[in-house]
Amino acid sequence: MSKKEQLDELKKKMEEDVNLPLKKPDTNLVFGVGNPETKILFCGEGPGYWENLKREPFVGNAGKLLDSLLLSIKLPRPEVYITNVVHHRPPENRDPEPSEILAYGKYLDEIIRIISPKVIVTLGRFSMGKFLPGAKISGVHGKKFDLIWNGKNIIVVPMYHPAAALRRGEVMQQIKNDFLKLPSYLKEIESKIEVEQTQLF
Ligand code: URA
Repeated sequence: MSKKEQLDELKKKMEEDVNLPLKKPDTNLVFGVGNPETKILFCGEGPGYWENLKREPFVGNAGKLLDSLLLSIKLPRPEVYITNVVHHRPPENRDPEPSEILAYGKYLDEIIRIISPKVIVTLGRFSMGKFLPGAKISGVHGKKFDLIWNGKNIIVVPMYHPAAALRRGEVMQQIKNDFLKLPSYLKEIESKIEVEQTQLF
């Protein structure tokens, strides 16, 4: 089965899961969007008003900023994969609770397993907390962390949430600078993959 087919199957399973805590009559599943074959996955917090309406992550103001940050490094949105730690909109856009993050976590883990990205960029503290528990965003943003995640080597790059950048000028400058570091992280990964492939022959 292709990655796309596996994701479609997982999405269907999620749609049928009646135990998801934020699933309500007025919330739609906002699963994820992008290229299942990508090496880079972006993970935000949870859908807001527009995301719930359009069933797609990051399509409101924070999403517009994310699109322009991606363009600043010549990485068009359709080339990456974008998802969230919770896949239904929390009421009044409140923060997701730990039990909710846990409940959606098994699906996020599956999304990551299927896509198998080399780099995960976390957007905001809830997403960062999944991979780097206890880290403080002000101290780690833009840095890369080599992790073994479910048996695979990945790089996690924590970033501020784009919505925080829209609220505070200094965060905007930091997120812009942090995005400019991504191409060199990706290049490093590409050359590592090349070396591994050469060693196979
Ligand atoms: N903020 C998020 O964290 N995710 C979205 O999909 C939209 C806004």
